[in-house]
Amino acid sequence: MTPDERDRLLEDDRRFVWHPFTQMKDWMDEKPLVVERAEGVELIDVDGNRYLDGVSSLWTNVHGHGVPEIDDAVRAQLDRVAHTTLLGLSNVPSIELARELVTLSPSSLTRVFYSDSGSTAVEVALKMAFQYHRQRGDTGRTRFACLSDAYHGDTIGSVSVGGIDLFHSMYRPLLFETVRIPSPFCYRCPLGLDRASCVMECADEAERIISENREQLAALVMEPLVQGAAGMVVHPEGFLRRIAAACRASDVLLILDEVATGFGRTGRMFACDREGIEPDFLALAKGITGGYLPLAATLVSEEVFDGFLGSFESHRTFFHGHTYTGNPLACAAALGSIEAFRRHRTLAHVAEMIPVMDSGMQAFRGLDHVGDVRNLGMMAGIELVRDPATREPFDGGLRMGHRVVMEARRRGAILRPLGDVVILMPPLAMDGEQLGRLLDITRESITAATEDL
Ligand code: PLP
Repeated sequence: MTPDERDRLLEDDRRFVWHPFTQMKDWMDEKPLVVERAEGVELIDVDGNRYLDGVSSLWTNVHGHGVPEIDDAVRAQLDRVAHTTLLGLSNVPSIELARELVTLSPSSLTRVFYSDSGSTAVEVALKMAFQYHRQRGDTGRTRFACLSDAYHGDTIGSVSVGGIDLFHSMYRPLLFETVRIPSPFCYRCPLGLDRASCVMECADEAERIISENREQLAALVMEPLVQGAAGMVVHPEGFLRRIAAACRASDVLLILDEVATGFGRTGRMFACDREGIEPDFLALAKGITGGYLPLAATLVSEEVFDGFLGSFESHRTFFHGHTYTGNPLACAAALGSIEAFRRHRTLAHVAEMIPVMDSGMQAFRGLDHVGDVRNLGMMAGIELVRDPATREPFDGGLRMGHRVVMEARRRGAILRPLGDVVILMPPLAMDGEQLGRLLDITRESITAATEDL
């Protein structure tokens, strides 16, 4: 690319592209980083600079970029057909993938409904749960329980069950009411307790809320084990098990949103496997294609599926579907990714990398402005605070997370913060040297961004 071509691209980005979750006034004052290509776990910009992909291209990437198994699967599919609809027809890769997903997921899940983003995967589960109860004649079950600080995507339904004020408060008048369960966020415990001495009173509270609302709850939706967008809030072990049991006892369907935690992130294929939970719905997206193409799947139990069967006139059809539902190229990419999981023994590799991540995280604890360090598997959040002793946050206007990201960029890594929580979400394929380098850059960047405060 010539310097002129590059300059035109930078200029046109500022002129024409509206970036998501971005204050465009700030964006237009900064020089955009334009990615041109990638190799392995590195992104390469239009100037040829290389950066470690520290957040897996928004939590999607699994095996790195340019993965032979996925490239070959997509190329082979391109020679057959790029897109054909699942409305009234089927296609080869969507069938093959559905079988694989049912095989890989907990045994309660037997059916696969495709869509194209994490938001729609959750939206589908909400609508199905609601309709399921109505079709059973249980018309009083019209509400959903969800955790505070939850994030399930940006469509109106998934925002309704979300709870991140910065993103969601603007839309409150448009949202449906929910039943809120306090998130078990130990660093800032909503019950004012301390993890060292508590006995998980948050789970008692959750059980109480579920039981009190048992007549009106269609389902409970939650991110199992780690609430990603809340700032990598890692739940205490056993919390998910308690919630799942409480839902069963009250006939409340359990929707697990594994858009972020799925496909190996926590060290198991799905986070719910760690607590042996068999949900009624599993929402999947992001890592499903190894980070190649937009695809989502809502996995459903046979019992729920059965509740939709009947004659056409019975109006039990699930009237929902997106144009690109079950897109063959995306399904082929997902099949390629599953093949790569098997061939490269990705979960075994993750098991070897988790101790590197765990010990690397310890090194953040002593830094002057690090309040909390949270990680599970290959997901981590480092919360920056003005005063670790009092846990007083920084003034939001200082944009500490953003400062760290800009420092990291200078040192050769791409990060993206959530407020003042620095997120690390490396591709699962990262090796020990690359992971060590990412951890070093992050530590140096935090030190540099906070040193004159
Ligand atoms: N659910 C969870 C847990 C997520 O982390 C996200 C995205 O970060 C979503 C849903 C929404 O996914 P998408 O951005 O693909 O709509």
